[in-house]
Order: sequence, then C-alpha cells, then structure tokens
Amino acid sequence: MIAHVSSWVLPITGPPIREGAVIVDQGRIARVGPGAEVLRGFTGPVEDHGNGAILPGLVNCHVHLEFSALAGTVPPQIRWEDWLDEALDGYGGLSAEEVEAGVVRGIEAVHASGAALAGEVTNTGISLPHLENSPLAYHLFYECLGFDLLEPVDLEEIFPFLGQAAAEASSPVSAGAHAPYSVSAPLFRAIGAWNQARRRPQTVHLAESRGEEEFLATGDGFFRDLLLRRGRRVGDFQPPNLAPAAYLDSLGFLHDATLAVHGVWLSLEELDRLRRTGAWLVLCPRANRYTGAGTPHVQQMLESRVNLALGTDSLAGNWDLNLFGEMLWLYRHYPAAPGELWLRLGTINGARALERSDEFGSLEPGKRAALGFVLLSGDGDFWGELFAAGAEGRFRWIS
Ligand SMILES: [Zn+2]
Repeated sequence: MIAHVSSWVLPITGPPIREGAVIVDQGRIARVGPGAEVLRGFTGPVEDHGNGAILPGLVNCHVHLEFSALAGTVPPQIRWEDWLDEALDGYGGLSAEEVEAGVVRGIEAVHASGAALAGEVTNTGISLPHLENSPLAYHLFYECLGFDLLEPVDLEEIFPFLGQAAAEASSPVSAGAHAPYSVSAPLFRAIGAWNQARRRPQTVHLAESRGEEEFLATGDGFFRDLLLRRGRRVGDFQPPNLAPAAYLDSLGFLHDATLAVHGVWLSLEELDRLRRTGAWLVLCPRANRYTGAGTPHVQQMLESRVNLALGTDSLAGNWDLNLFGEMLWLYRHYPAAPGELWLRLGTINGARALERSDEFGSLEPGKRAALGFVLLSGDGDFWGELFAAGAEGRFRWIS
C-alpha cells in the first residue's frame, strides 16, 4: 500500500478535498479523503506531491488514432468540406507503415496528456494490438461505412473484423456507424442490433457539418456530390426528410449506449430529442473549430440537459490529442458554467458513456488507481490554472 497526498485531491464524484490523500493497494484505490483522516494509523509509504491536484485519469471518448500520421499536414480550414477533402487526400497518400507508426505515437500522446481510457474509432483495426500492449485502456469502435447497402445486412460477412472480435465475449470492441450520410438505413439497423446483442456501446458522427441536414431533407448538396464522386449509388436514395437526430431515432439507433459525436448543428429541439433517448453527446469543440465544422452551441447543450462527454477527434483535425485543451477551451468560452463541470465531462461522464465507470472516471475505493498529478502554483483561479497546466502538458502519472 502507498499513500499519495497533495494540496488538493479531486475525487470528481465528490467535492475537491483540501490537503487530501489517496491510498492505493495493488493497483486499486483503497481510500480517499482528507489526509488527516485517511492517514490515521497508516504505516505504509507516503508520497507527498506538494502543491497541486491529484485527479483520476481522463476519458477521451473520441479519437481516430489512424489519422495521427497526418499531424500538422492538414491545416485548419474555414470550410469543413475543404478539410474533409484534404484529410481524405492526405490519408490516401500514407503508407501502411506511416499509418501504423502514427497510431503508436497517437496512443503515447493520448496517454501522456492524461487520458486513462479512450474511445478509438478505427477503419482497419490496426490500432487494436497496439492498444492491447499499451497502458491506455480503450474501447474500440470498428467504423462501418456503406451507403449503398440497401438490403438487410449481415454485418460480420461485410466487416469480417467484427466476426473475429465477436468471438471474444469480453472484448471492448463495438460496431461503429460513420455518419447518416455514409451509412444506409439497413446498415444502421444491423450495427445497432450487433451492439445491442452484445450489450456494447456504439458511436456515430452526428450533425458535424451543415450539409448533413440538407442531405437528409432533400437528398442534395455536398454529400450527394461526395457520394457520387466516390462512386456510391445515390440515385434511388429517398431522403427521410427528417433532422439528423430525428432520423437516427426513427431507426432505433439512439439510446443510452449511443455516443453521438459533435452535434455542432443540432437545434434545441434535436438536443431535446437526444436527451430523451438517453444518448451521449460527445463534444470535440477545438476539433470543430479546426476543421471548419463550426462552433458547437454549448450553452444550448447545457440547457437541454443532454448527457455530455468529451473527445479530441484526430490529429488530422485538431492541434493535439490533449483533452485538457478541450476543457480549457470550454472553460474560457463559457465562464458562467462552474469550472469543475468540464472536468466532470472529461472524466466520470466519459467513463459512463463508454460503460467503464466501475473502473474509471473518479477516485473511489475499488476503482483502478489511474492517478495523475498536476503541479499548481495556487495563485489565481483554480480551474483555469488546472486546465491551462494540463493543456501545456504538465500532467504526470503518479500511479
Ligand atoms: Zn471523428
């Protein structure tokens, strides 16, 4: 057993603890509380980290590690459509070795910046063996695309990776849906059924760009052109004439084990629908700014009381994979919200979204002792300093 103490301990599921202590026993949290109480009678080693905060490892709910090799090569864009073109072109120019080396660097960056658990979206599955051999815990979403799959779909026949993953009952692997403009209705149903049969969470990009709404309403616009350019059959597509969340809801795809990512262009009515289904909305605000998708309506999201978690998205569409950066951005843009809210989104909410809150997301007895520490001066505003220090890379693992 070892005790970690510092001027602050942030349990997340309880208020911050001044002069707090966390006792770790064989990789698990044994006790958390004020040092004066927790350390009474404790005879093991005590590691005093000094001025700063002990906190649980973060939960980054949305990354694409495969795009890590594109770091710095796709500049920030004004129009999301231009970003997509550049990112797809860039990815097409990478060798398999470059992609794999990027995955390894991406895992290292996500973990070093403070995440204990990540929701990884993959199109190839190549990140899986690397994640298995890393200290970063993960949930892998194997992303399915297929706008021209118009008959009932045998998912494992079309995506054999899922057949292999399904063989392992305890494997943290799900089927993921790319987006309403790239996944047909029968494919959405097959993905939903596959995940539900295994009681695993699922994910989908939702309302990231404005064109999605137009495409679902009229069958026209940027996405029709994109599908045609990529040789997909769209001639017989009957637009549902529904808003994006309403469309997914009509397919039974929205429920409390669904992570809908971005939601930049969801109306208040759509946010309310999402809340009623219990689905999670994963915010990636810096990524939305980087790619030109827009600025998420965070105030409306908070007012709607939809379940919120955080992600960074990829190095093709963000400055880094550091979740503290998303928290800092939110903290600076929404000063009326309590600072601790953003840390909750990046810890316990993410752990609940990925259905791993029995192990991650807070400092509570029995959970995995994935503890980090951020050195703080204690001057000025606590949350602002914490998020800025984390965003500058001053998080370090202590257990
Ligand atoms: Zn994404």
